[in-house]
Amino acid sequence: MLEALRTATALQTAGFFLVANLAIFGGSIVLCWALGVMFKGKRIFDRWEPVRSVELAAAFSAVILNAAVSVGGWCLWTRGWIELRDGGILRSVIDCLLMVFAMDLGMYVFHRAAHHPVMFRVIHRFHHRHEATNPISLFVLHPLEVIGFGGLMILFLTLYPMSLAGLIGYLTLNVLFGTLGHAGVEPFPAFLSRLPVLRLIGSSTFHAEHHEHPRYNFGFYTLFWDKLFGTLDPDYERRFRQGS
Ligand SMILES: [Zn+2]
Ligand SMILES: [Zn+2]
Repeated sequence: MLEALRTATALQTAGFFLVANLAIFGGSIVLCWALGVMFKGKRIFDRWEPVRSVELAAAFSAVILNAAVSVGGWCLWTRGWIELRDGGILRSVIDCLLMVFAMDLGMYVFHRAAHHPVMFRVIHRFHHRHEATNPISLFVLHPLEVIGFGGLMILFLTLYPMSLAGLIGYLTLNVLFGTLGHAGVEPFPAFLSRLPVLRLIGSSTFHAEHHEHPRYNFGFYTLFWDKLFGTLDPDYERRFRQGS
């Protein structure tokens, strides 16, 4: 597939990434809905936020922008600015974890900046229209947020030669965590909060609390940076155990 992508035209590549991003969008909605049905006894919110047409339009434009950012990444890759390498299982796992950890820090920093009153009013308030969430919340973003996240990912890829499997692993985890964070139910079991390392995984409750109380929980994949910088909701562990 990589060889086919390398020799494809820009138009073919744009079509490929548009279809891929539409599939991710649809898959995330289906997964969110399935989680809501499977774990309806573990609801974090009483109800899902209603789907409004302006948010649906924003979600579709986020999908198109994600495809555009992917094409940008493809351009840099074909010109040698981004390097993808082969790697065994161990290398792929290390690469994937490294990217999760680095992107979590980058997104934590940008997310906190996005809560500066001016930035919040102009850019990030749109995502926070959802106090409770719904299956499209993950994609209800200001265009600058979509470009910012894509830019951060591309910056990382220009600095670190990822294995292809590690990158695919990261992209998969990114969609899973994003979907989980907006599912409005808590699939993780309560005992997770008592296990070392695993207790730092960003649960559904973790991001749901951010929508309820935007001064806490700025991380995405882990609780690590919020714990380090003192922004974890003090009520988090109790809420997590209660919801799970
Ligand atoms: Zn959110
Ligand atoms: Zn926020």
